[in-house]
Amino acid sequence: MVYTGVLTKMQTEFLEPIQYYLVFENDFIHVNQLLNKTITIKLVGHQCLSCGLDRPIYRQGFCKTCFFDKPFAGDWIMRPELSTAHLGKEDRDLEYEKKVQLQPHIVYLANSSNVKVGVTRKSQVPTRWIDQGAHEAVEIVEVPNRYLAGITEVALKDHVADKTNWRTMLKNDIKDEDLLEWRHNLKAFIPEEALPYFIENNTETHIHFPVDQYPEKPKSLNLSKTPSYSGKLVGIKGQYLIFEDNTVFNVRANEGLVVELGI
Ligand SMILES: [Zn+2]
Repeated sequence: MVYTGVLTKMQTEFLEPIQYYLVFENDFIHVNQLLNKTITIKLVGHQCLSCGLDRPIYRQGFCKTCFFDKPFAGDWIMRPELSTAHLGKEDRDLEYEKKVQLQPHIVYLANSSNVKVGVTRKSQVPTRWIDQGAHEAVEIVEVPNRYLAGITEVALKDHVADKTNWRTMLKNDIKDEDLLEWRHNLKAFIPEEALPYFIENNTETHIHFPVDQYPEKPKSLNLSKTPSYSGKLVGIKGQYLIFEDNTVFNVRANEGLVVELGI
């Protein structure tokens, strides 16, 4: 079977282990069922996730024009502290920004390769943690808008990492951390405006990924250099497909690529 479609990040289901789905226009592929099978990924084109044109993908699945014009690619996406909808101030489209920014947000600790702090909309818990390949995570604050989450993250970054090492995450070279203790120790650094929203009580979420074999030396597949690749799928972690020969493929980083998937 050959399925053709535009890559978007895999949809997930929080079960034990996590269930992954690739959603193409006409097909819905349950990726867990491909484990231990040889699959082929072939690059056949590009399709910007916004305008739909066959243009080179610049970032986040968007062509360069859309990335710099469209409201869903504003700087406040990657840097929540730049959010201004709570002041009624527009970046690119105030209606859109109000809808996204003025809703409950979570600042969290997640352990993927190390303990890191991050921000997500509440509706994206635990999806965000699954996408990062975190095996454990816990909420720190639940605030009413993106700005408050952003300034909390910025303040905590001085005391905890904010990046994942993807190689370490994929090699599963990890240790369990007491995230409740981390949260307790970080409380002193939460900005005063966000402190009333501190979460005391809830427990760690644990996430189990479907991986039979972790790569010892992960090599990232770049379809623009290697337009066709075949390998035996041995695991899925975060948004990565893991193959028997140490090749790994980050589905999310390849959004907007049109591929043929041979199974
Ligand atoms: Zn576009």
